[in-house]
Amino acid sequence: MIFRQLFEPLSSTYTYLIGCEETGLALVIDPVIVTIERDLGEIAGLGLRLAYTLDTHIHADHITAALDLKKRVGSRIAAPAHDGLPCLDVGIEEGTPFALGSVTLQPLHTPGHTDGHFAYVWNDRVFTGDALLIDGCGRTDFQNGNADALYHSVTTKLFTLPDDTLVYPAHDYQQRRVSSIAQEKKRNPRLGGERSLEEFRQIMENLNLPYPKFIDYAVPGNRQCGVCPADVPDNLQKYCHHMTESPQG
Ligand code: FE
Repeated sequence: MIFRQLFEPLSSTYTYLIGCEETGLALVIDPVIVTIERDLGEIAGLGLRLAYTLDTHIHADHITAALDLKKRVGSRIAAPAHDGLPCLDVGIEEGTPFALGSVTLQPLHTPGHTDGHFAYVWNDRVFTGDALLIDGCGRTDFQNGNADALYHSVTTKLFTLPDDTLVYPAHDYQQRRVSSIAQEKKRNPRLGGERSLEEFRQIMENLNLPYPKFIDYAVPGNRQCGVCPADVPDNLQKYCHHMTESPQG
């Protein structure tokens, strides 16, 4: 098994690198535009060739590297078909496994954080995106988010996976790397411990989170599979990375 968990500190995003030992092909889940060089270095260091990028959802806090990676190394762009992005090479749907050589992911439609959000099950682990975080979950107040939908996604699709399934989230803000379905079912303060739907609604309604500072640029950029909009203000330019700035560009 070839697997790496890579961290992008600006948005606290985890990018997952999976390689097929038989074909030498790799895919990355949720790559971030600012860490494109690091990720390409990891892939090259393992002797792999990047075949696919695969996003869990349309992110609001960073720009996906999908399009830049396609331009750089010819990888194909896979993401949930539900969002209807015109830039996709492969539209992911539940019930249709995503295969790359000997690697097979089972896509699960897990709406609630966004309506098109997907999680991906791979053998003993699940990449939960922002549907289920370690001791938390993604917010539900933007991008057609819906607390009821998220509750159902987590309790009927993720919490019904085997207890020892490893949970790899799209983010963590406290340096935690991995959890398990059993642990989240037991102690996730929002969704664990047999929380009721009504309790979950109350928790999500009372989070009082600030307006996401990059959302107005990230969402339109990610609807184009990873374009940094031209109007990004100076104080947010660090979230963008243009290939012309790269040493190899
Ligand atoms: Fe998100």
